[in-house]
Amino acid sequence: MVNDYGTGLEQGSDILSQYNRLSQMGAIESLEALRKENRELDRLISDAATLVALPTVSRMLDFVIDKVLERFVPDFLAFVIEPPRGARLSQFCYRNLKPSEETIPLDAYARIKDHFLSKPFSDRFETIRHETGDYPGLEAFSPELVFPMRGIAGLYGIVVLGHKVVGDEYSDIERMYIDRLTRFLAVGIQNGLHHQSSITDAKTGLYNHEFFMRRLEEELSRCDRVGSDACVLMLDVDRFKRFNDSYGHLAGDAVLESLALALKEAMRSEDSVARFGGEEFCVLAVDCGAEAGMAMAERIRAIIEALRIEYNGRALRITVSIGVCMLDPRLKAKDLLDDADKALYASKAGGRNRCTLFRPGFLGRATLLRAGR
Ligand code: GH3
Ligand code: MG
Ligand code: MG
Repeated sequence: MVNDYGTGLEQGSDILSQYNRLSQMGAIESLEALRKENRELDRLISDAATLVALPTVSRMLDFVIDKVLERFVPDFLAFVIEPPRGARLSQFCYRNLKPSEETIPLDAYARIKDHFLSKPFSDRFETIRHETGDYPGLEAFSPELVFPMRGIAGLYGIVVLGHKVVGDEYSDIERMYIDRLTRFLAVGIQNGLHHQSSITDAKTGLYNHEFFMRRLEEELSRCDRVGSDACVLMLDVDRFKRFNDSYGHLAGDAVLESLALALKEAMRSEDSVARFGGEEFCVLAVDCGAEAGMAMAERIRAIIEALRIEYNGRALRITVSIGVCMLDPRLKAKDLLDDADKALYASKAGGRNRCTLFRPGFLGRATLLRAGR
């Protein structure tokens, strides 16, 4: 039966003639180019989603490096990252795929940064050089392309790409992919910084009160679940009001920063150290019983007593009093901190610059009444 659309043979020849016509017009080629671009965009969207969910900058960089290497091998690759709010500039350089100690000179970075203030996209290094002059310290790396990393707070850094080890110059598609991925890298870094500032104290860089409480609650359920031990240490600087009155508030701030650093260095990476407010600090020591907790508190007390904090040509000294309390999964985080605070108060009442372990009953009402509370 012959239908309205003719025989299969007629249909086939019709398609063929249309194909030839479209091909002559260049439409087939454009369609293929569009398909390719779509595939690239699909890839970019999925790579970007993975990238922005990574928890650390170093994992983000590893991911970007993997993605670059899936396409080509540059003889040099550098990430210069300058987080906003005065945080330190960091550099990650790779020569022939191996991490390298080389660094981009800071004055070259500053000039390139200026260049990108008015240009949103990547540029060939030759173009930048042509427009802004020579870069003696940078030319040794033979950079070919430079990508800006831009976010809400402005420029977060640059990515520098050397020549391809094998193959021609970078294609437009390759360049566009790295350009876009670099923008997502900036978003990822920005997210990481915001997250970091939401859980830390700006003055000392230690965890803040809110995050510490969350960690304490998590640890209480872990102790309940696996039967492990943990301790909380509450520290308070002795007679700090008097210290500020004698040396000034700025000297006091410098002391709190040094104290925070010393505390962090004294603890293991799995422990959490927080500034609880003012001149009060808290430490959560995991997998640690009462005896070990007291030994740790005593070690910290001695480290702080031995600190000499250089400030305006003087070596300043402080001491701290510490209260130690074992985690008890039957208690809420807040009640546990109340107990640690009671032990801290007993250290203060006992003469300061000392550590006290909270013992239910022993450090009860009578002791606290005697301490004048
Ligand atoms: P105690 O030994 O009983 O703890 O005496 P103290 O003087 O340390 O206690 P008090 O609570 O009377 O005073 C705490 C002081 O800590 C007062 C406050 O100005 C100071 N302080 C709190 N936060 C900061 C800060 O961020 N910087 C500086 N410089 N001082 C601070
Ligand atoms: Mg104090
Ligand atoms: Mg206090």
